[in-house]
Amino acid sequence: MTIRTRLIFNYTGIVLVILLGISVYLNHFLKQVLDRRITTELRMQAELTREFLAEAIPEAFDYDAIDALVDKLGAVSAARLTFVGLDGIVWGDTERDGEELRGMDNHRNRPEIQAALSSGYGIADRYSNTLNTSLRYFALPVYRRGEMLGIGRVALPMKEVKTAIARFRRVLWLAIGIGFVGGILLSVVTAGRIAKPIRKLTQTTRAIAEGDITSRVEVVSSDELGQLSYDFNQMADRIEAQIDEISQERNRMDTILSGMVEGVLLVGEAFDITYANPAAIQMLDLPSNYQGQTLMELHRNVDLQHLLEQARDTGTVGMTEILLPTGIAERDAEVTVVPVTDPTNGGTHCHVLVLHDVSQLRKLEQIRVDFIANVSHELRTPLTSIQGYAETLLDGALTDAETSQHFVAKIMQQASQLSQLVSDLLDLSRLESGTVQLNLEPCRIKDFRTAIWDLFEPVFEGVNLAFEWEVPEDLPAVLADKHLLEQVFVNLIDNATKYTPADGRITVSADARASEVVVHVADTGIGIPSDALPRIFERFYRVDKARSRKMGGTGLGLSIAKHIVLQHGGQIWVESEFGKGTVFHFSVPQVPHPECFIVGGEHNNHAEKHPTIQPPSGATWTDGNVSS
Ligand code: ADP
Repeated sequence: MTIRTRLIFNYTGIVLVILLGISVYLNHFLKQVLDRRITTELRMQAELTREFLAEAIPEAFDYDAIDALVDKLGAVSAARLTFVGLDGIVWGDTERDGEELRGMDNHRNRPEIQAALSSGYGIADRYSNTLNTSLRYFALPVYRRGEMLGIGRVALPMKEVKTAIARFRRVLWLAIGIGFVGGILLSVVTAGRIAKPIRKLTQTTRAIAEGDITSRVEVVSSDELGQLSYDFNQMADRIEAQIDEISQERNRMDTILSGMVEGVLLVGEAFDITYANPAAIQMLDLPSNYQGQTLMELHRNVDLQHLLEQARDTGTVGMTEILLPTGIAERDAEVTVVPVTDPTNGGTHCHVLVLHDVSQLRKLEQIRVDFIANVSHELRTPLTSIQGYAETLLDGALTDAETSQHFVAKIMQQASQLSQLVSDLLDLSRLESGTVQLNLEPCRIKDFRTAIWDLFEPVFEGVNLAFEWEVPEDLPAVLADKHLLEQVFVNLIDNATKYTPADGRITVSADARASEVVVHVADTGIGIPSDALPRIFERFYRVDKARSRKMGGTGLGLSIAKHIVLQHGGQIWVESEFGKGTVFHFSVPQVPHPECFIVGGEHNNHAEKHPTIQPPSGATWTDGNVSS
């Protein structure tokens, strides 16, 4: 039942009770008033009758004379008049005459007569057999000169009273009916007016409960309901502000957790996952329905299980390293488990897991270890040879001039390889540590041909290799350290000559791209197996160690070339078909504003003239030169 219906019922009930109360009271009141009025009227008439009869009654009682007096008096009154002697005989009555009068009952025992005789007046309501109707009688003793002559009685029919009361009741019921209908209408209107804001308040509360936090109530009055609406809106404002604050906080947390490189997991007491940030999902390769599943179901790892159990049992922070489930490359992660209490879950114990991908770190460590092993090995090989030749010489070979010359030549060769290795190592370490100063200047790729040709012509001729230079004349100038860029050319062409059999071809070409020039060094040599391609730029990595060493290679050439190109802000990459040939590509940034330079002429202090020109990343201008 709605509040409106209840109010209507209540109001109607109240109206009904009030109307009924009023009607009962009025009914009673009217009855009393009419009663009193009729009694008063009777008394007055009785008094008049008494006075009249006291004067007019003959000394000797006579039916005809007394009845004539009574009838005369009754003619001017609507009441029934009776004169009764002290012995109860009715001597006169307005309703009876002659024989009928004489045949009337003795009235001595009538209650009103009895009362009038004993106490001076008598009143009684009774049914009159004479008139066949209810009457009210009022009797008074009639005195003459102090002597009581008889009783004068006046009677009025009660029918009038009843008729008046019935008429009044009809009017009263009509009034009650109208009042009731009016009351209902009024209660409908009033209940509607009271219920409307309450209904609006209820609708708004429901809307807020269903998530529409912006919903508000209209404040239309200044009474208690208006105050309630105002307070409700205030409360909704505060809740909205708090929700805003909470969602901002949550968004901030989400942003932080989503942006974290580290994986973060929240697991419950039973190691069931309640939260995982994107990094953790990706690291552990969790399915989309991971929530509620245990960590062990999704990532079986004994070490992790032990770590979690230990953290749960001891309540201490633990750490371990696990292997992540990934596709191709192996990845390691350092896992830290922190036992915490989850306030959002009734203060239950749970664990925060932080996964830190240490694959790169481990890879770097491995590279360092490999590097030391490689360096030691590379140094030991020529040193062992030198030691061997020297020992042989000391053991007597010195006496043989031809042998000793041969051995000393070998020692020289090994020593020069050693020196090449050391110088390559020094170059590489300088490039890697970023201490090499780049003398950046605008240069054209076509200008490198002469130096390369001078250096390699004898080699090409010796192994019968064709060398083709297909660099367009009008290529934009690049900003580079001439000496180092030449080193890149030398390393790549040197490799091409080493790994291209006789009658092969080496082609150097170049083309301009958006803001750089890309150089291609292609050969028709032995090619590089596809599994070796990703490692080709690693230090000391060689597809065929023995062959490389025999060719005088240190395994550092490509590494050095890569670092030089990177220092210039360019890139180097390789394409190769095993058995058919290899193409090395490298890019060098073009001169940003060529109009500022006279390429091939005097070197300009461009930084001073055009301070807006920016050097490539990793390098800074110094006195017209560039250092890194
Ligand atoms: P190296 O001194 O051994 O030449 P690099 O770093 O210059 O060392 O090259 C590494 C390895 O890459 C070489 O040992 C060789 O196996 C391979 N490689 C380099 N260039 C070529 C090429 N043009 N053709 C085939 N293999 C090559």
